[in-house]
Amino acid sequence: MIPPELIEAARQRRWLVTGAAGFIGSHLVESLLSAGCTVTGFDNLSTGHQHNLDDVHERCGAEAWTRFRWMLGDVRDMEACREACKNADVVLHQAALGSVPRSIEHPEATNEVNVGGFVNMITAAKEVGIKRFIYASSSSVYGDSPVLPKKEEHTGRPLSPYALSKWVNEEYAAIFARCYGMECVGLRYFNVFGPRQDPHGAYAAVIPLWFAALLRGEALQVNGDGETSRDFCFVANVVQANIRSALVENRDAVNRAYNIACGERTTLKQLASGIAQALHQLRTELPKEATLHHRDFRAGDIAHSLADISAAQQFLGYQPTHQLAEGLRIAAEYYIAPRV
Ligand code: NAD
Repeated sequence: MIPPELIEAARQRRWLVTGAAGFIGSHLVESLLSAGCTVTGFDNLSTGHQHNLDDVHERCGAEAWTRFRWMLGDVRDMEACREACKNADVVLHQAALGSVPRSIEHPEATNEVNVGGFVNMITAAKEVGIKRFIYASSSSVYGDSPVLPKKEEHTGRPLSPYALSKWVNEEYAAIFARCYGMECVGLRYFNVFGPRQDPHGAYAAVIPLWFAALLRGEALQVNGDGETSRDFCFVANVVQANIRSALVENRDAVNRAYNIACGERTTLKQLASGIAQALHQLRTELPKEATLHHRDFRAGDIAHSLADISAAQQFLGYQPTHQLAEGLRIAAEYYIAPRV
């Protein structure tokens, strides 16, 4: 949701969303179109899906869809990036190969898309005179730092090619600000979840995986003892952070990276209970509690993660509107009856 006081300003910009057919990108497109904005969506449909865009189309309606320009393209292709940037004022760069385990198996692909593609997109944006470049970073940049809660200035050493790629993005954004006067904002998302997050494939995230498993009547596979904790963040909060970053007028707020989360820590055991209860409320025949099967901790994973969100609150006016339980309730409705 776009904060109501920002809708007018949002309508005066032309938006480019990369990764538009993905989970987060499709929510950005949906919120912007619903608010009356003009949007270009750019994606190569590698991990994103046409059905996500079809769902956005259906939810926004035919009038809104006339304000959407779709571009099938790859961020590794500089010409395609230039074409996508035409007629845009703001870039919300979400296109990347996600997943720590994927990056450990495919470091070269991760680097080509997440680093090479990022440099192409920010260069194309600079060439056409786009000033504001908002991009998805990640909590993985905290790497091996044991400090909790995570504060933006205390990063550690990256633990995976994925984390390194996001760290490099932040360094490139700082260079583009310094050398070319661009206004960049990095958003370090912490475990985002919500409707349209893909439950399929080897690299699916824990929340969609567990929704799908419980709906099949299966036990949940837990990496480790279940005491691992994360700061799970519903996707509407991420949309809000992007829009606020794109429109914030305070010059001190740009050319920084912010934690985007709820500022609450939840263990995997608590998460399993929350998901089971959200499903049980909608379908009473499903069990109230999940059965857990424990296996080894996963390489590259950190034990605990919790964000300090005070910088985003102070500089962007960010305030999470959806806490975990509310987000799980909305996600449960989607996984019970996916709109695809
Ligand atoms: P997603 O896989 O659903 O979306 C990524 C989109 O980028 C997909 O639609 C995919 O097709 C597209 N893409 C990939 N390679 C591309 C290429 N070469 N050219 C053009 N498009 C390409 O993942 P998501 O969860 O929506 O993630 C969006 C962004 O947020 C990513 O940058 C990811 O690293 C970051 N992020 C996500 C989370 C999370 O918990 N979901 C956490 C931290 C950071």
